[in-house]
Amino acid sequence: MRGYAEWMSKLVDALTKLPGIGKKSAERIVFHLLKTNREEVANLSQILLAVKENVSFCKTCHNFSDSELCHICTDAGRDKGLVCVVEDPKDVISVEKTGVFAGVYHVLLGSLSALEGIGPDEIQIAGLLRRVKEQKVREVILATNPNTEGETTALYLSRVLKPLGLKVTRIARGIPVGSHIEYTDQATLSRSLDGRLPI
Ligand SMILES: [Zn+2]
Repeated sequence: MRGYAEWMSKLVDALTKLPGIGKKSAERIVFHLLKTNREEVANLSQILLAVKENVSFCKTCHNFSDSELCHICTDAGRDKGLVCVVEDPKDVISVEKTGVFAGVYHVLLGSLSALEGIGPDEIQIAGLLRRVKEQKVREVILATNPNTEGETTALYLSRVLKPLGLKVTRIARGIPVGSHIEYTDQATLSRSLDGRLPI
């Protein structure tokens, strides 16, 4: 890149591989880092590596966690009888932001898709069924995305869960069809959880 020291070009290239960072933002970050003191930059690079090395999936709910079980699964104040099923760890953060959900989660790490050849064995469904059988789960709220894959997944789960004799609900409409839980505002998501319906 013209006018750049070689290491600066390398950093711009590396940063533009990150989601949401275009060339302009990458350049701003590089100039900012060059002005920042060494200690802060060292701290940032350590945190980047530590996240990669220490964060993995919770053994119970498959949310991101830096210990075997995540802080939600180990929280005695959370209702273990109420399980909210989401597709992605990002969705846990969205539901948590509403501040109205006191249960626990199950992250599927994907959704069923005939087109992409993703069947029930490719996502975290077996673990959900085990949890429902082993723990006293009263209700499972299906909070998969309101798009084709999310609806297919919700339907499939309702079919395999209902024979186990628990309440199965689906978050209410209000979240635009085809959109994602992740991009839904807190008020809408909160209303959608409150207004959940049997499926
Ligand atoms: Zn967990």
